[in-house]
Amino acid sequence: MKKPTNSAAPHGLQTIADREQSLLAQYAMHSTNSLGRKHPEDEHPYRGPFQRDRDRIVHTAAYRRLSGKMQVFTGDMGDYHRTRLTHTYEVASIARTIARALRLNEDLVEALALFHDIGHPPFGHAGEDALNECLADEGGFSHNWHALVIAEDLETPYFEFPGLNLTHEVLEGQRKRIDKADGERRLLEVQLVDAADSITYNAHDTDDAVKLELVSLDELATNSLVKSCMDRVKLRFGTLDDEMLRKAVVHELIDCQVSDLLDHCGAGLSEHSESQSDPDISGFVIRLGQEMAEQAKELGSFLYERVYRHEKLIEVRKEAQRRLHIMFSGYVDRPQLLPQKHIERIDSVGIARAVVEYLAGMTDRYCDEQYHGHFT
Ligand code: MG
Repeated sequence: MKKPTNSAAPHGLQTIADREQSLLAQYAMHSTNSLGRKHPEDEHPYRGPFQRDRDRIVHTAAYRRLSGKMQVFTGDMGDYHRTRLTHTYEVASIARTIARALRLNEDLVEALALFHDIGHPPFGHAGEDALNECLADEGGFSHNWHALVIAEDLETPYFEFPGLNLTHEVLEGQRKRIDKADGERRLLEVQLVDAADSITYNAHDTDDAVKLELVSLDELATNSLVKSCMDRVKLRFGTLDDEMLRKAVVHELIDCQVSDLLDHCGAGLSEHSESQSDPDISGFVIRLGQEMAEQAKELGSFLYERVYRHEKLIEVRKEAQRRLHIMFSGYVDRPQLLPQKHIERIDSVGIARAVVEYLAGMTDRYCDEQYHGHFT
């Protein structure tokens, strides 16, 4: 690994290192402390290493395809709700807000957030579960792991090396999403993106589910977090029509959770940075305060039972899984149907995993087309 030094400052501009030194807290991940990239590269004259990671991620085909992958609701359920791409960008936006307030490394946080769901297959967690079953005898499949395969093997934009050659911190951050219980310390930036992910999907799935009339706001108000948001909104704005009430409650859901997290973590982190000259914050956990965490968990359970397991979604889930199983067997039997790039993967990962990698890269629409084109 070649460590970046950030020594270059073109045209007399401030270096990334200087900028970070003045803006970031001591406990943040400064890019000068990065362990660098697997394949050494020269520093960029005016982009820091994590900015370059973000740009590399944004320019991948896998990232663009997130626009055609469902988050919770499929494309035929309308065009209001989130796709995997818009979810990703909402996570990045909320994560950056938190990072800036806590003086953590926004560039790293943005790269991690834009990367976090890049390995998602078509049809959300239904698709992931089906592909995991297809590889049950070969170590299974997870979208978190697949993100690393995309970054290290499947995307090949550079002549000099395979993969995106992302920094150690982004790859390791993603690796630790796979096994959060491994006891190893995770960077604050990595923890923050996880927290932002939960805040984001709890809020937008509430919004989408009400808009799609899978649940009503009154039903949601049986949840204590939604109820307290609704009470504050009513106190502030009086009586609102249902549409405006939904929007205001969703804004409040995001705002109160982000504020709670900042209250909880801001105080803890400043205590740390004041009491220690060594900015070792090992053991510090980025999370909501206990009461808010319990309420958020309760909302998550409500969404699971009443939305993610709604009969309309269960139908979609079953059909997607049925098709993916048929496609998996079909491509394994007829690997000549795979694109050349995936045929070439067979030697290194075997036919089953090569087929799953191809399926995982498909958008929902492309998956439908291939299913109807080859398997009906
Ligand atoms: Mg996510």
